[in-house]
Amino acid sequence: MGRYHCSEHGIEYSSVCPACVRDQAEEDRQSILSSLSEQTEEVSERLDTLLYKQSNPGDYKCPECYFITLKKGAKRCPMCRSSISEEYWKQVAEKEEETRKRKAEIEEKQRQATEEQKRKAQEEKERIVRGIREAKKEWENKVDLVFALLIGFGLLILFVVAIAFTLQEVANKIMSWFS
Ligand SMILES: [Zn+2]
Ligand SMILES: [Zn+2]
Repeated sequence: MGRYHCSEHGIEYSSVCPACVRDQAEEDRQSILSSLSEQTEEVSERLDTLLYKQSNPGDYKCPECYFITLKKGAKRCPMCRSSISEEYWKQVAEKEEETRKRKAEIEEKQRQATEEQKRKAQEEKERIVRGIREAKKEWENKVDLVFALLIGFGLLILFVVAIAFTLQEVANKIMSWFS
């Protein structure tokens, strides 16, 4: 006889839901397993690195055993005991020089590209500033023209009014002669 109801599993239970207990146990098991497998992976990675370093203790590859066992200029491989020729080190030096040159070339190209980008951005900025300045100047010229027109028009009106007054006065005078 259940007194409680589990909404997740839709069953009645008296003290704890057996399905919830089972789910929780499964969840715990999974999390323990996954943490264990993570640890195992880490340990195996560390072992791999250690083994690699043990068999490759140098900076350069031995041309005989192909392990990275050689310090620069070494006469003998500490792993396979082969003697290393001067010719081998000359080739290594040439390869390094070539790599250095190529790297410098790439860096120079990148520097030039950056410079070019900066130059274009600056040009674009100047172009915009010039555009704004020209638009402003054009606007100012228009305003000046409108002012000039207004003043001209005003003077014209004054002139017309003055003539109208004068004509009126002349007319009045002529009319007074006949009255
Ligand atoms: Zn439940
Ligand atoms: Zn070797």
